[in-house]
Amino acid sequence: MEPVFGPKISEEEREMPYRVTVNKETCDGDGECVEICPVDVYELDANGKAEPVNMDECIGCESCIEVCPTDSITVEEI
Ligand code: SF4
Repeated sequence: MEPVFGPKISEEEREMPYRVTVNKETCDGDGECVEICPVDVYELDANGKAEPVNMDECIGCESCIEVCPTDSITVEEI
């Protein structure tokens, strides 16, 4: 029998590599990206700036780009 709750992210999406970059000069550390990222790519660093610590997990959904109030995030396919 199929599981009722399957994974939210397909294998295809998982395997696509992305490079996530945060401009620390403009990041205001509001943590919106930390909150919204479905795969916990971000943490706040010692200076309170967003740091993409789990970039390998990124699925390229661009939610972090949409919520960033200072346009400090870039997500590129690599
Ligand atoms: S693009 Fe999506 S998965 Fe990747 S870091 Fe941003 S919110 Fe997380």
